[in-house]
Amino acid sequence: MVQDNNCIFCRIVSGDSPCHKVFESPGALAFMDIYPAADGHVLVLPRQHFEHIFEITDEDMRAVAAAARRIACAQQRLLHPDGLSVVQANGAAAGQTIMHYHVHLLPRVSGQKLRLHGPRPGDPERLAALAEQLADQLRAIP
Ligand code: 5GP
Ligand code: ZN
Repeated sequence: MVQDNNCIFCRIVSGDSPCHKVFESPGALAFMDIYPAADGHVLVLPRQHFEHIFEITDEDMRAVAAAARRIACAQQRLLHPDGLSVVQANGAAAGQTIMHYHVHLLPRVSGQKLRLHGPRPGDPERLAALAEQLADQLRAIP
């Protein structure tokens, strides 16, 4: 399995750094974004370290896409957002700050501009509650 010890997302995957986990499968992991750009902002990533879409394998991409679909349904059921954006940045020029491939799942409010990064860390209690409630919803989503 491809890992990079200097990568924060690899350290979360290995359990060396904490996260508010929402979902895991053999190929993918999802957790709450620590600087949420929206209430319910979730990140989905492959367990293996790939920097961009240019390196990820079809198999890992499938694992991330399948997880993202289910989590989006859970966000829809739990939060009833006006919309939901699925965004993935490749390279600094595209807004990527963590160089481990990941997808943002962003619940949207009508009229508010899309952004990937929140201005401050999320309230840990709110992040923990959201992670638990989304995980609960996921149990009912095929
Ligand atoms: P990017 O700009 O690379 O598409 O997004 C990286 C995202 O990872 C940002 O939204 C940022 O808030 C989030 N992030 C960075 N470090 C951590 C961390 O240690 N834990 C969690 N849960 N999210 C992180
Ligand atoms: Zn990594």
